[in-house]
Amino acid sequence: MSTPATPPGFSTLAIHAGASPDPTTGARVTPIYQTASYVFNSVDHAASLFGLEAFGNIYTRIGGPTQSVLEGRVAALEGGTAALAVASGHAAQMIVFYTLLEAGDEFVAARQLYGGSVNQFNHAFKKFGWAVAWADGTDPDSFERAITPKTRALYCESIANPGGVVVDIAAISKIAKKHGLPLIVDNTLASPYLCRPKEHGADIIVHSLTKFLGGHGNSIGGIIVDCGTFDWLKAKHKYATLVEPNASYNGMKLAETFGNFAFAIACRVMGLRDLGPAIAPLNAFLILTGIETLPLRMERHCANALAVATHLAKHPKVAWVNYAGLPTAKDHAIQQRIAPKGAGAVFTFGLKGGYEAGVGLVSKVKLFSHLANIGDTRSLIIHPASTTHRQLTDAQRVAAGAGPDVVRLSIGLEDVADIIADLEQGM
Ligand SMILES: *Cc1c(COP(=O)(O)O)cnc(C)c1O
Repeated sequence: MSTPATPPGFSTLAIHAGASPDPTTGARVTPIYQTASYVFNSVDHAASLFGLEAFGNIYTRIGGPTQSVLEGRVAALEGGTAALAVASGHAAQMIVFYTLLEAGDEFVAARQLYGGSVNQFNHAFKKFGWAVAWADGTDPDSFERAITPKTRALYCESIANPGGVVVDIAAISKIAKKHGLPLIVDNTLASPYLCRPKEHGADIIVHSLTKFLGGHGNSIGGIIVDCGTFDWLKAKHKYATLVEPNASYNGMKLAETFGNFAFAIACRVMGLRDLGPAIAPLNAFLILTGIETLPLRMERHCANALAVATHLAKHPKVAWVNYAGLPTAKDHAIQQRIAPKGAGAVFTFGLKGGYEAGVGLVSKVKLFSHLANIGDTRSLIIHPASTTHRQLTDAQRVAAGAGPDVVRLSIGLEDVADIIADLEQGM
């Protein structure tokens, strides 16, 4: 008698999901298929690929075998039905909204976001005729107050930049469901190892693969995961790209044809095909290699970050530390519910010496790299007031969580004693 197979665990999926030995060469590791295009078997085969009647490789702008393994792996780790890998995290965000919105539509986003996303939503998206309304990620009801008849989606980060605040995705999802809207969650800072947004009610997940998923600071990439949970056919609002007959595919209706992975298909065959931000096969390969060690890396990232935050919290030169993993943090209870395995590795703290002390620290550190990135094996540091948030007024900087005394850390995988010693000599 056969017993039902136990579903594989997270670490097994991180190494195996989506991959099998190369059928032609036997190569065990997924090869880099460095080619622009793929030969058709026949005229009929070509026609069925172009008509979306069969899946297969056509041209690297639309997909390829290395990218496809990456997509299968991240979809499995997030518990989604399908995924689409693209050139960057920002490309993923652009394609998600291109698939959901028409000119004149709005969406509501938490204002605690990666700075580049705030810019993209405020300025670049305006050119597409899409408007963002800002809510407060620490106050789920503020999303409801920002919803208008034109709202078509809600958006937040799970662990939010820059302060590492953990957002109550479940509470925001309740509001999304009440108003018949899909919830999009940027899960970059948590990675699926710490948080699986689908389990808290997300419908669409986006990642910058550049950060913890790739994990080594060597390639830019992004991915969109379709959770398969939003019913486009029964939705309160009409999402035209998904439900209307598609003129570029012989009148095919994507939601009707592809069911619970129609969103991922629409992102590929409309968004990626027409806007064009494809990921390079080499980058997909490097990110896949990174993902194999995601569980081990995230455990060490979180343990190191907690040790550094605990050390700083009792340091005489430190005014405050914002790390959700500290039992004294305002969002500690939410972190225990949303990301119980750890609070991630990105957080901010304030130096009593203000602006001068912040600039002094970033110029004196030796192990830490002073740069604008997160989620590397290396420890990274930035003083937002003198760099990323330099152009703002003092008041704007404080509102954005980038006051004069704020220092942001992304804690790496070095020996934690060396990380702490470097901060000590810098302070
Ligand atoms: C880096 C980042 C992005 C943008 O991703 P890119 O790969 O740099 O385009 C989006 N969201 C978050 C939370 C990020 O950290």
